[in-house]
Amino acid sequence: MNILLMGPPGAGKGTQAAELVKEFRIPHISTGDMFRAAVKEGTPLGKQAKACMDEGKLVPDEVTIGIVRERLAKDDCKNGFILDGFPRTVEQADALGTILKDLGLPAAKAIHINVPKGDLIARAVGRRICKSCGATYHTKFNPPKTEGKCDECGGELFQRADDTAETMEKRLSVYEASTKPLIDYYEKAGAYVAVDGRQAIDKVTKDLIATLKAK
Ligand code: ADP
Ligand code: ADP
Ligand code: ZN
Repeated sequence: MNILLMGPPGAGKGTQAAELVKEFRIPHISTGDMFRAAVKEGTPLGKQAKACMDEGKLVPDEVTIGIVRERLAKDDCKNGFILDGFPRTVEQADALGTILKDLGLPAAKAIHINVPKGDLIARAVGRRICKSCGATYHTKFNPPKTEGKCDECGGELFQRADDTAETMEKRLSVYEASTKPLIDYYEKAGAYVAVDGRQAIDKVTKDLIATLKAK
């Protein structure tokens, strides 16, 4: 099953991807996580990505498409994958189609997590992530049992540099202009479904799994 988990910043893509990994046993590929890892390592890719991420802009298509092409060519993607945060532009969606064809993999299904704009800034600003295992929490909506500590591994929680109200405004306008057109794109291809992302986290997971299994 090749899944594209789509939706605006803060919609719950990463949170839900972690649950879908447990259900379907296929890898979770997040371009945001890949860029953050490169920033941490201080590689040339990381330097380029950081400049874009800090401003809430997209990393250039050719760079992003290159890392996704490399990742999808790995053996663990043969039985399926969950792409989170890619594609984000029509160019990336076209490239993904070509990559899958080149690799002999089936076309992907796009699932959109619908959350109204008004909820997204609060979600991002309260987001906390485990330094050790990457688990995602929210100070209000999904708090850890002990403040600042991961339930899964005891790791320290941190806040992403781009999870400020200001950068979120910018990311949301980039989403509207560049990524939202993909809803039409996948609808026309007959490969689009949406779930209501305003519900509780476990209810969204249930809907996603039911939708994917019905396909
Ligand atoms: P969110 O989950 O809040 O939408 P991500 O972790 O997916 O954030 O992305 C963080 C940042 O990484 C984006 O604002 C952008 O700068 C960069 N990025 C991630 N995925 C892509 C992509 N497919 N194309 C271009 N830039 C990307
Ligand atoms: P994305 O990957 O789409 O940017 P995340 O999965 O990181 O989104 O979720 C953004 C923030 O919102 C996190 O702090 C997460 O705990 C919280 N969150 C995710 N899903 C829900 C939900 N259904 N209701 C309330 N908060 C949620
Ligand atoms: Zn952890």
